[in-house]
Order: sequence, then structure tokens, then C-alpha cells
Amino acid sequence: MYNKRDLILFELWKTCKNYCTFCVDKFMEESPATVKRNFEVFKERAKNIQNASAVGFLGGELFDGSIETLQIKKEFIEFLDILIEKVKEGNIGTLCITTNLIYPDTTEVRYYLRYLIDNGVSESKILITTSYDNKGRFNRPNSEDWWRFNVEELKRLFPNITYHCEFILTDNLCTATLDGSFDLIKFLKWWNGSINFNQPYTGFKFMTKEEFEKTSPGFFLRRKNFINFCKYLKDNNLMDITQLFIGTNAGDETLMTNEDYGSVVIKYREFENDAMGREKKDFGYIDSDKDIFEDIKRIALQ
Ligand code: SF4
Repeated sequence: MYNKRDLILFELWKTCKNYCTFCVDKFMEESPATVKRNFEVFKERAKNIQNASAVGFLGGELFDGSIETLQIKKEFIEFLDILIEKVKEGNIGTLCITTNLIYPDTTEVRYYLRYLIDNGVSESKILITTSYDNKGRFNRPNSEDWWRFNVEELKRLFPNITYHCEFILTDNLCTATLDGSFDLIKFLKWWNGSINFNQPYTGFKFMTKEEFEKTSPGFFLRRKNFINFCKYLKDNNLMDITQLFIGTNAGDETLMTNEDYGSVVIKYREFENDAMGREKKDFGYIDSDKDIFEDIKRIALQ
């Protein structure tokens, strides 16, 4: 039985059409039969939620046609109905929905948001999390335009929903910010909501950083670039850099599917600053053994 947990996450499936270069779930899609079967576990767990401050659900991607492809609309709605009742009872504070918003139109996500709202979940109880990346995420023609358009449209149609944006703080992002090819300050003004920077990690593929870096060049942080980026954040008063990599969107408890294990596995937050309970060796600079957090502390005190 769940009780007084901060955030419970349900990773409902891994299917996603976006194929970001750095995606740790890429090509790990489950069969429709597996997803359908897993919903029985998700629904049972959801029924036991008590006093959770937030419950999140994510993919893969939920709203790029996967529900149709996997033929799980009935199961998805049944799952939502359980969560709706939990919100109305006061046993869930906020419903957090993660979507990449990289699709040509928002019909599907609007349909399910409307479903939640029409069934008694107020907009103020919903948080939408999406992500931004200056390289590796918007790899289809017009996809960044879709994303920006969809963000603006949802904010206009559902103004009382809270919107949150996750960045993986890659070396590419540091470089582009520092050389001016990406205007972070302008982006933050446009976004006008909360953001979070995550530290790059290798994920479930159990690659070393060096192996992973070959598949996604510029992903892991280079020390000098990162230090300059921290100074940039500090000098422009963009954020308290001691908060970098601390506010993760990881669940205190995460239920996720894993075909290798045949069904749903549950991950608890095991290591501080490790979003998925993986070992810390998956993290850190690609070109130095120095501790990133020591560097952050030092720059904050300068
Ligand atoms: S949008 Fe998310 S799930 Fe889809 S490929 Fe990118 S990182 Fe993976």
C-alpha cells in the first residue's frame, strides 16, 4: 500500500516515434499484449494510492498515436478513471503528465486533458512536463516548430495548468549558450514557467560514458565548458546554481515496464541525484574525473 509518498510515477510504455539521439529507451518498445497486460498491474497499484502529493504518468510518448497503435484506449481510460477518483478523494494532490509535444497537432493530448477536466480534475491539479534540447531531440523537419506551437496552444487553451520544462544539461547546450547560437535568456522569457536541468547519464543500455558519447556526440559534460556555463547562469542571475541537478523529476517510486523482465518492475529512488536509481558511475564529466558538485559549490562561492 502506498502512503504519503511524494511522487509516484507510472511509465506506461516505452513506445515513442521521436527517436532522440540520447533516448535511453530507444528501440525498447513493448508488444501491445505486454502493455495491455501491464495495465492490470498499474490499475491495481493506482487503486491503492493514498495521500500522494503527486502522481505522474509518462511513456515513451503518450500522445503521438501510441494509444491507437497499441490498442489500449480502454485500458488507458480505465487507468485515468482510477486516478480521477483518487484526485477527487484528495488522495492525489497533482496529476503530472509528461509529453514531448513533438507532433503535428495536439488533438490527442487535448482530448485526454479535456477528459480529466470534464470528469472533475481542475486545471490547477494538473502539471504538464515537456522537454527541450538544442540538439538530438528535434530531429525531424519542423519538429521544433511543432513543439513551440503546441506549447503556446496548450498554454492558451488551458491557462491554469502548470507547465514545466526539463533540459538535459549537455555539453552541446553549454557550447550553444556560450557561443550565442542558442539564446537561453530569450528561451526562458518565452517559456515563462519552471525548468529543471538534469545531468546526462548513460541509462539502461549499460554503456560506458565513452561508448554513449560516440552514439550522441556532445552529450556528456566537458569540465571547462560546464564551469563557464555555471558562471553564465550565475552572472546573469538565471538560477541558484547550487540547485543544479538536485530537483529531478524522478519518482520516489517508479513503476515501469521492462520487456527483459517480462513485466512491471518497481524502482525506488536509491541514490541521491541519480534519477533512475542507477550507479553514479554513469554520471560525471566525459573529460575529467573531478566531481561536478564540488565545482558547482566552488563557483557558487566565488
Ligand atoms: S521524446 Fe522521450 S521517449 Fe521519445 S525518443 Fe525522446 S527521450 Fe525517448
